Amino acid sequence: MEERVVRAAETALADHHYVSALDIFVGTGLLAPAHVRDWRNGRISYLEQAIQCNLHKISRSMHVFREWARERGLRPSETAYLARTRGPRRELRFSKSGEPGIERAYRTHFISPELSAMEKQRLQAHLGAPPEIVVFSTLRDLRCSQCQADLPHGSFLLIENREPLCLTCAELDHLVYVPPGDPALSRRARKHSTLSAVVVQFSRRRKRYERQGILVEEAGLEKAQEECLSDAEARACRRSGTRCAGAAKIGRWWRGSRTRFASYSPHVRPARRTRLPSARPFEAAGGSDARPPGGHSTTRR
Ligand SMILES: [Zn+2]
Repeated sequence: MEERVVRAAETALADHHYVSALDIFVGTGLLAPAHVRDWRNGRISYLEQAIQCNLHKISRSMHVFREWARERGLRPSETAYLARTRGPRRELRFSKSGEPGIERAYRTHFISPELSAMEKQRLQAHLGAPPEIVVFSTLRDLRCSQCQADLPHGSFLLIENREPLCLTCAELDHLVYVPPGDPALSRRARKHSTLSAVVVQFSRRRKRYERQGILVEEAGLEKAQEECLSDAEARACRRSGTRCAGAAKIGRWWRGSRTRFASYSPHVRPARRTRLPSARPFEAAGGSDARPPGGHSTTRR
């Protein structure tokens, strides 16, 4: 048992320079990654519920983990675990009791002392960032579980409590779609938006969810477009060495992009609310998977 905890901790440390309680329980095989996903998505009320051993063994594992971290000289760092849901930030619960001391122990990561101050800061920012909102582009016709609006093939929807929600009911309908293909634009649009979401679609061929683009606030997108326009030349030069013949062309492309983006987002706007004659049971947005999509491709530790 102790050996397994130490082995899981060493593996995690070698892999990502920090170790969390999740690494220990997943690494020892006591916790399935699928359960971590469910917990992250708010489908499991507290994590201990999904750990496959009794409370005594859990606290023993945690003790061994902390002792190992102390001996290895790792630095403790508390991280907020936030639920992957819309609306106000909600902290995820680890323990059955919810006791603050136990919750803190679970939330504490142990970071490698080999990381520089800058790397450590970056890692902490990454670990503490709220999880992404995942919006699904549906492969089949569905219906919003709340307002009953039709969600035809290609519509964007959110899955909440295993039910599809249109973006109006999800309060995300003010966001606009940015297709993939321009990393600088996407990165900047996200940076300038207080709320954003990643769009994924199930690939039947690859049997997994794949990123399709992002949803951002219109003002954020405009600001990003302005920035991209202003340094299009410099970026093009960086890409192709010092000489830059294509900058003017890129500038023209950008100037025309506003209308192009508008045409990309027909489903972002509220769909017309016409009722279908008969109610259809909910089917997962992708393939034959009976489980509602869980956004595998974007799952974070
Ligand atoms: Zn709705």
